[in-house]
Amino acid sequence: MRWLAGLFLTLTLLGLAACSDGPTVERQRFLALGTHIEVQTAGAEAEQAREAIRLVREDLEYLHSGLHPWEPGALARVNQMLAATGEFTADPGTLEALAASRPLYRASDGLFNPALGKLSAAWGFHQDAPAGPPPEEATIQAILEAEPSPEDLEVDGVRMTNTNPEVQLDFGGLAKGMGVDHAVELLRERGIDHAIVNAGGDLRAFGEHGDRPWRVGIRDPRGEGVLAGLTIDGDEAVFTSGDYERYYEHDGTRYHHLLDPRTGRPARGVTSVTVIHEEGTTADAAATALFVADEDEWPRIAKQMGIEAVLRVDDEGVLHMTPAMAERLDLQKDGATTRIVELP
Ligand code: ADP
Ligand code: MG
Repeated sequence: MRWLAGLFLTLTLLGLAACSDGPTVERQRFLALGTHIEVQTAGAEAEQAREAIRLVREDLEYLHSGLHPWEPGALARVNQMLAATGEFTADPGTLEALAASRPLYRASDGLFNPALGKLSAAWGFHQDAPAGPPPEEATIQAILEAEPSPEDLEVDGVRMTNTNPEVQLDFGGLAKGMGVDHAVELLRERGIDHAIVNAGGDLRAFGEHGDRPWRVGIRDPRGEGVLAGLTIDGDEAVFTSGDYERYYEHDGTRYHHLLDPRTGRPARGVTSVTVIHEEGTTADAAATALFVADEDEWPRIAKQMGIEAVLRVDDEGVLHMTPAMAERLDLQKDGATTRIVELP
């Protein structure tokens, strides 16, 4: 987690540089959704800001316990019911995450698939410290052949019906996005006009930091430093999926947590994907889907998901980016090869 501290420092320094004439800043950190959350508000009364952040914290802790893929809680109960198939009553958190996932599953041609919990568990990612050995090929194939998908679940009010016993829900690919969206909504409702909500480097910001925009850093996937700086324009989310987030090594091979639903294995060839979008949920799912997508299909998937600004770093360190992303980045890494990729 050393890099996390580094990123906070980077964000903090960038933030400080932008506020030399000192807006009223309130900043709080806490743990939720498997990461360090930092909420910073600017220009609001301290009392009002603290109360708003307290509500954000409560909401994110609630989301955390409701959507946790392996700790006992609402989603764990849903997954037990799913394994038995048939009809049951689902909790509001699961219903919200499922409803948010459906259009993203379709727009990504199934590359973002929140029904692959069984596969993540088989790969050893459903525990605090991911660990091998990797699953047998037969285990992977048995799951893939059943084609688990959110389309196997029918929802009628709070009743859910499942027809596929291989479906296990895992919202790890969009939970942080939902979290920052909830947070931004809550802050705005409480009269906060300027804030940044940072969930371990994935973030959404709105308003300004004093009289300047918010600035953030994008982490170098292979190194301790910052790959690029980025100035937030209005209300935006910036999300990154990286192979360095959760992984383990087994017999000298590195296995990370971003699984390609077609092969059932960790996606190859990419080290990180960063996207910008107005909304955190879409940005989060898109970063995951575009990480998994092949080199010749990601521009089409990005377009289908409504994402214009994409940065994809391949395993040779080449930065592939759309023109909309190139326009926004302030590259900090000398000598990096960059390629501009147009969307269809
Ligand atoms: P993080 O920022 O926490 O690393 P990501 O947004 O990159 O998270 O999503 C990774 C998580 O998403 C995995 O830990 C797993 O729970 C889930 N996941 C992995 N592969 C997929 C996939 N193809 N579609 C949807 N969710 C996935
Ligand atoms: Mg994601």
